[in-house]
Amino acid sequence: MSERAMSETVTDAIGEAAALNAALAGLSPSERLIYLRAAVPGRIVFTTSFGLEDQALTHLVAETGADIEIVTLDTGRLFTETYALWSETEMRYARRIRAAYPEREALEALVDDQGIDGMYLSVDARKACCGVRKVAPLKRALAGAAVWITGLRGGQSAGRSALPVADFDAGFGLIKVNPLIDMSREALADLVAAHAIPVNPLHAKGFPSIGCAPCTRAVAPGEDERAGRWWWENVDQKECGLHVGPDGKVSRQTAAEARP
Ligand code: SF4
Repeated sequence: MSERAMSETVTDAIGEAAALNAALAGLSPSERLIYLRAAVPGRIVFTTSFGLEDQALTHLVAETGADIEIVTLDTGRLFTETYALWSETEMRYARRIRAAYPEREALEALVDDQGIDGMYLSVDARKACCGVRKVAPLKRALAGAAVWITGLRGGQSAGRSALPVADFDAGFGLIKVNPLIDMSREALADLVAAHAIPVNPLHAKGFPSIGCAPCTRAVAPGEDERAGRWWWENVDQKECGLHVGPDGKVSRQTAAEARP
């Protein structure tokens, strides 16, 4: 595809995302899923990491019956509790949650190079681990999809507070929809309690945000929800590459920034 054609495609996608954002803004999370499925042809992929938000979304996807794929990134370093919740969730909703795995040769090369816990050595080493274990599998999981659904919620961190419901993700080149972006933590907890949605027992032990075991710890009351992720790094370095733009920050992409 020529540079001009690519630029026009991206511009169209940005316009489509803006129109979707306007249409979804006043709807509830369930209504957003239903509207999205009716409005967008092609594959819609929801990536879950089994956190509270993702469990609520899995429940809503199942409840609405919307034809949306559910995929998780099995980094190989998840908590035992997370694997148990994965199995429990499949049984509760009688559906498979597909796994995307790291590519074997890349993983062997990574561990050979930096060791099994090399993520602590430097920010670059940590990003290399996230790149092999998360970003590359996510790229494969999203290949050919029309829309990517996430459980991002504005209250999770300062970097996520200004995100819209729908936007064009320049990093992955597709529309990203965050149905829970404007939901409060209280409303989320109410939804989970009302439907007895299965949740990770680690939440009750001070883990509001749960990722890989070596990179997640409990937070103190009042701390940012994502303070326990990559706790040894500066706050502006704390994203794994799944939700960042070309500048490395969690932010909206303008048309000019996103054009190839
Ligand atoms: Fe590796 Fe930690 Fe990133 Fe998981 S969160 S992929 S263990 S660096």
